[in-house]
Amino acid sequence: MTNRTHSPHSNPIAMQRYTSLPDDMYVALAPTRSESPTMLTVNTGLIEEYGLSVEWFESADALGFLSGNHDYDGASPIAMAYSGHQFGHFSPLLGDGRAHMLGQLETADGKWVDVQLKGSGRTPFSRGGDGRATLGAVIREYLISEAMAGLGIPTTRTLALVTTGESIMRDYQMVPGAIQVRTAESHLRVGSFQYAYSKLGKDGVKALADFAIEQHFPEIKGRDDKYPAFLEAVSLRQADLISQWMLVGFIHGVMNTDNAAIVGESIDFGPCAFMDDFKANKVFSSIDRDSRYAWKQQASIGYWNLQRLAETLLPLFDDDTDNAVKTAETQIGAFIPRFQLAFQEGLKRKLGIASDSDAADAFVDNVLPVLEDEHIDFTLFFDALTSVAEGGSEDTLLRYFDNAEKGKDWLKKWRQFSDRDQATLTAMRNANPALIARNHQVEKAIDDATERNDFTLFHRLSNALKTPYVVSDKNVDLQEAPLPEQCVLRTFCGT
Ligand code: AMP
Ligand code: MG
Repeated sequence: MTNRTHSPHSNPIAMQRYTSLPDDMYVALAPTRSESPTMLTVNTGLIEEYGLSVEWFESADALGFLSGNHDYDGASPIAMAYSGHQFGHFSPLLGDGRAHMLGQLETADGKWVDVQLKGSGRTPFSRGGDGRATLGAVIREYLISEAMAGLGIPTTRTLALVTTGESIMRDYQMVPGAIQVRTAESHLRVGSFQYAYSKLGKDGVKALADFAIEQHFPEIKGRDDKYPAFLEAVSLRQADLISQWMLVGFIHGVMNTDNAAIVGESIDFGPCAFMDDFKANKVFSSIDRDSRYAWKQQASIGYWNLQRLAETLLPLFDDDTDNAVKTAETQIGAFIPRFQLAFQEGLKRKLGIASDSDAADAFVDNVLPVLEDEHIDFTLFFDALTSVAEGGSEDTLLRYFDNAEKGKDWLKKWRQFSDRDQATLTAMRNANPALIARNHQVEKAIDDATERNDFTLFHRLSNALKTPYVVSDKNVDLQEAPLPEQCVLRTFCGT
């Protein structure tokens, strides 16, 4: 790929768009210096996809720039302010407590993406925190965001990981500190609008909405109803995103409004995980005691978050509150049918069912309860079913059922409803990854890296997760479900 915008001799950041927002929306400040940084990994694939210079990312200049050891002359790093409902409770001032937005770079296809350092030191929003991130947390975010990208799900990405050379205290232990170089179409969150609304009122929300529309939804810019159209567009993107998460068994874990990006990208991967055996009410996060963010809750939480966004936009809709509320309800109402359709159609693709009938729909509706009753691994099941559809043996699939007779009955019914034409088979394969970022493998990669300075599994996983739909003999061990003793039941923030 040609290197259009980025000279190998300088950093690729070419602008800082957020400084056109009202002053209260951000604080200008540079990252904190790191003691003795090293470049842990550069994401060659992403750097090339963006049309940037791998040579620069591997240079001493890049290490300085991405670790805080740089004077940032000519650059405008900022920390952004936002609010957020955390587990349902409103925090008026969160903000980037350990992140610095360096600015934006232009990708090979002419898009501008944010480049943010996460783990780059304290800011006015740090409260009691140390402004740092653990090596474990940035490895998790790297692997999960690469997995998302490989699966074709909108996500923030990681250009590079840097270790700071400093140890930080977490849970009474000293662990290595690290910085994630994150890219995103946007870092605006539902919580950004909540902050604009509570701090600046209608004018602040208007400035932020105009900015978001201009940058990310230009197609609605000229419309008379651009603010309602904006709410609808955000709602549809959230519906698409959450349905895609659920169709690969992903549980975000902390769907607070400050972790909901208005452009519909997956962002802020904390104690998230892909589930192994299917349980609709599955939760991994150690801090989600009420199962608020369980797998099956994610759509209704997405809708709840949109309600919080809608509340901030009401003054832009109509001076009459009743009318404004009606408009808001109509716009976020679009979420529900969009989600339901995307999820149902997705499930049908996973099952290789193309035809429409009430009986087929009833069969589709019943598949997840069967998986749950039979304690079947979500990913392995659909992968094995795809093999059967492609003409392979039924044995593997049948072995997954606790009750073999039930398995045979289920397959018999599935044969009645499923379609075997090439288009359906291709769609089925592309809906059923052979490989997900298995939680026990991610945890092992983190332990190996953190405790033994061994990055072999991290590199293997990041490579394999690029092509999750390709069945490969090389990755059989990464595809397997955990043995009972390998199961990771709880995932800790460890941020
Ligand atoms: P998160 O759970 O990563 O989405 O973060 C929630 C809030 O806590 C955000 O405002 C973060 O900036 C802040 N935060 C998380 N970890 C730290 C830390 N180590 N130091 C300062 N602020 C933090
Ligand atoms: Mg967050």
